[in-house]
Amino acid sequence: MNRHIRLDEKLAVLQESDTFRKWRSLDDRRVCVLCDRVISGRMIDVWEDKRGTFHLHCPTAGCSATPRDWFCHGPCSARPKTSKSERPTLGFRAVPA
Ligand SMILES: [Zn+2]
Repeated sequence: MNRHIRLDEKLAVLQESDTFRKWRSLDDRRVCVLCDRVISGRMIDVWEDKRGTFHLHCPTAGCSATPRDWFCHGPCSARPKTSKSERPTLGFRAVPA
């Protein structure tokens, strides 16, 4: 059975599931680019499926936005992109004299 998560679980779920931007509180706000509305974390429709996967949906009826469509409204920090290819190259191989 799918279940809606409780409000007190929501912030942790947002922080874990939104890999695009950071959530500091449920009052953080985002602009949904699909429906052009300002939403807060508190308003986001979050539920968990039977496999334990969290699904985040825009609270606007009929809007199919997901976290990637929610942009910061006011100050918030985008998560730094993590790319394995950007790992610094470790030293040079020592050439024996
Ligand atoms: Zn929306």
